[in-house]
Amino acid sequence: MNKFEQLGLNEQLLDAIREMGFESPSEVQEKAIPVLLEQHTDMVALAQTGTGKTAAFGFPLIQKIDTFNNTTQGLILSPTRELCLQIAQELKNYSKFVNNLRVVAIYGGASISEQAREVRRGAHIIVATPGRMQDMINRNMVDISNIDVCVLDEADEMLNMGFYEDISSILSHTPREKATWLFSATMPKEVAAIAKKFMSSPLEVTVGTKNSSSKNVQHEYYTVSGRDRYLALKRLADANPDIFSVIFCRTKRDTQSVAEKLIEDGYSAAALHGDLSQNQRDLVMKSFRTRQIQMLVATDVAARGIDVDDITHVINYQLPDEIETYTHRSGRTGRAGKSGVSMVIITRSESRKIGAIERIIKTKFEAKQIPNAEEICE
Ligand code: ADP
Ligand code: MG
Repeated sequence: MNKFEQLGLNEQLLDAIREMGFESPSEVQEKAIPVLLEQHTDMVALAQTGTGKTAAFGFPLIQKIDTFNNTTQGLILSPTRELCLQIAQELKNYSKFVNNLRVVAIYGGASISEQAREVRRGAHIIVATPGRMQDMINRNMVDISNIDVCVLDEADEMLNMGFYEDISSILSHTPREKATWLFSATMPKEVAAIAKKFMSSPLEVTVGTKNSSSKNVQHEYYTVSGRDRYLALKRLADANPDIFSVIFCRTKRDTQSVAEKLIEDGYSAAALHGDLSQNQRDLVMKSFRTRQIQMLVATDVAARGIDVDDITHVINYQLPDEIETYTHRSGRTGRAGKSGVSMVIITRSESRKIGAIERIIKTKFEAKQIPNAEEICE
């Protein structure tokens, strides 16, 4: 018995899987398929490109369709025409042994009336780009009032391409009780916002992002004059009242003094460095883990073993001597599919280092301004 047979898929799908030669489910398929078959639930699934996300939503979606009912029950939104065609073709392969299942692709750059005709002939599942979908809704060419499942595929790409408004408007035409399944390779803020706005307590499935942190992390740098470094740190903290952060300093002395100043200024902070006893360090870590402390000021060495979930911001109060260390620092946030921000406070003379880091992490930094006092007080 292969593992596909243990996921709850029906015989028609298992036959197609055998014929396609898939030997065992990929991780995202193994995690998502049984849940989606068993429960009518919203889901956020994060997995890198090429991990088989199409089948992860495609198999359960096909199995949920009532082919004796001719309404459109499944809607898949996808960023490009090519992807729509590809997904529609995949679904046709998967449903080869399912009688009378109709899948229709609709996308821009081709005759809208021809696509409308296809839909009228019956479309249990529509695979659409958001732009064309919106267009067809406006012209009353589709009826999505009976949608049972809506899939947002490659959600990060769709948002990159500026489809937020279309997606939002399309979803408003679908029934409230539908299930929404969001699939994405990364979880930038925009995707998190969509999930929050349009989904209700979605189950989360995350694959393979644990150690490849960088995709979920946004990198920002703030240029200040040397003596404004501490003030900049305070303003960043003020601008992010829910911050749960590790702040990296270069030396034990700086670590201690920054933490002391923060505490004096009324912030929830503590220092972690090698001059503390093991007992003290354990206590600090415990209060950080239990969130009695919002800002942990640490040296690289002391922070090495930290494995704390849900860190929202990593702040590089000073850049590390070794540029590679930056990767380890920023990897403290954006774990398990959550998004995070890695901030660097630098002086003008250090700004060359940003380019060097960008080459190592293969990601661009955003140059930002320290929020000014008015912004902080609203
Ligand atoms: P993603 O959407 O995650 O980028 P796709 O769904 O496009 O990935 O799948 C990538 C490729 O892997 C496709 O060619 C697909 O047919 C193939 N594939 C998917 N699942 C399996 C599996 N369980 N075994 C073998 N190949 C698979
Ligand atoms: Mg895909």
